[in-house]
Amino acid sequence: MGRLVVVSNRVGPLKDTGRAGGLAVALVDALMETGGLWFGWSGNVSEEGSFGQMKTQKTRSVQMAQVDMTQADYDAFYAGYANRTLWPVLHYRLDLADFDHRFEQGYRYVNDRFATRLKPLIQDDDVIWVHDYHFLTFAASLRAMEVNNPIAFFLHIPFPAPEILAALPNAAGIVRAMLAYDLVGFQTERDASNFRRFVIEELGGIDEGDGHLRVNGRVVIAKAYAIGIDADAFSKFPMTPDARKNMTRLEKLLGGRQQIIGVDRIDYSKGLPERFKAFERLLEDYPENRGRVSMMQVAPPSRSELDAYIDIRRALDELTGHVNGRFSDLDWTPIRFMTRSFPRRVLAGIYRVSRVGLVTPLRDGMNLVAKEYVAAQRAEDPGVLVLSRFAGAAERMPEAVIVNPHSAEEVAAGLQRAITMPLEERRNRWQVMFDRLCQEDAAAWSRSIMADVKTIRRA
Ligand code: UDP
Repeated sequence: MGRLVVVSNRVGPLKDTGRAGGLAVALVDALMETGGLWFGWSGNVSEEGSFGQMKTQKTRSVQMAQVDMTQADYDAFYAGYANRTLWPVLHYRLDLADFDHRFEQGYRYVNDRFATRLKPLIQDDDVIWVHDYHFLTFAASLRAMEVNNPIAFFLHIPFPAPEILAALPNAAGIVRAMLAYDLVGFQTERDASNFRRFVIEELGGIDEGDGHLRVNGRVVIAKAYAIGIDADAFSKFPMTPDARKNMTRLEKLLGGRQQIIGVDRIDYSKGLPERFKAFERLLEDYPENRGRVSMMQVAPPSRSELDAYIDIRRALDELTGHVNGRFSDLDWTPIRFMTRSFPRRVLAGIYRVSRVGLVTPLRDGMNLVAKEYVAAQRAEDPGVLVLSRFAGAAERMPEAVIVNPHSAEEVAAGLQRAITMPLEERRNRWQVMFDRLCQEDAAAWSRSIMADVKTIRRA
């Protein structure tokens, strides 16, 4: 295989700073292996936008190249179509979606502009691998410029049922553009099958089996490749000095009480208000937990310029005040709500001292926190993962306590089960999940996509 060219909205960091998401770690490994180029947005808005100078930087075998965008691009492409239209629709939240045809225009324009900037850097035997919902139409832009390299795509967020996607104006046009990719990868079997159904039902595609779709005289691979984490590395994080120092602080504070931990960007897809209500329900339905079990929620803000995100944060502040006001005691506060982030090493330590990992999104592509919580546990005395059936992670983690996040009663019962679960059962469930995490790790994820890319024969 030639060089790998990765395209994603944000580029880097190349080193695992402890803050980098799982995605960056997996991609860096894949890029280092073949040598390659990583192209995307610089994160800066400038007057020249994508017409300005490309920022490049080379570290060992990996070249990074970034371009700016203008304020108008940012408004229509990023804050508009990507985050006000596609994000809610793909997370099944039609009620929160803004449909404005100027957003789609701006989105296609930025995809075209970025493709134009990338094109001169592409070599004949490169494999191009594009990431996420910001670039659904990127391959179509490249093909229009006669780029004939294999182009793969991976969608990190859910792909909804055709009945939901049909509400997106010009959904067929967007999916048709996605068919310019040779391979389209999804987090779960459900997502992949939703996509195949759309192509078959709306665009006349033919299912040729094994994830192969024939449409417009070509074959496109549309399959699930669940993203993994570097489970081995993550399982060692709690032993790092940074993690240990913070674990000691936290253990002292807990004083033998049990802790439920949640870690999520503030986002309406994460089911945070529902989660806080479920914790309140736990204290109501199982009063023996009062004074004994607390919940800590780490919630870094994101996209805070959007109304839907401001509303959710306000709701969480209110719920925290309500539950704490109702149940707090002199030496015990039920909910600790922190709107800040921690480095992943520190999070690993927090996970390890937490008896329950509570991950209850209403929809989530995968949810890496679920996997990281499991990876951080001690084999001798592991905690229990309580996991929403609507997280992609649930498809490959049935040994978690699986719950419906819409039912406070069911989540409370799941929490009670986790809190009271005997050691042997905890160990058995954990071991199966941990072994699978090690096998289906980040490196295996990119390897399996690249293996399928190699089967692509372009006319
Ligand atoms: N994360 C972090 N610090 C924080 C909160 C989260 O480094 O304070 C990391 C977390 O370890 C995980 C990623 O951010 O790797 C979140 O990924 P996930 O798939 O759970 O959710 P997303 O934010 O991508 O929707």
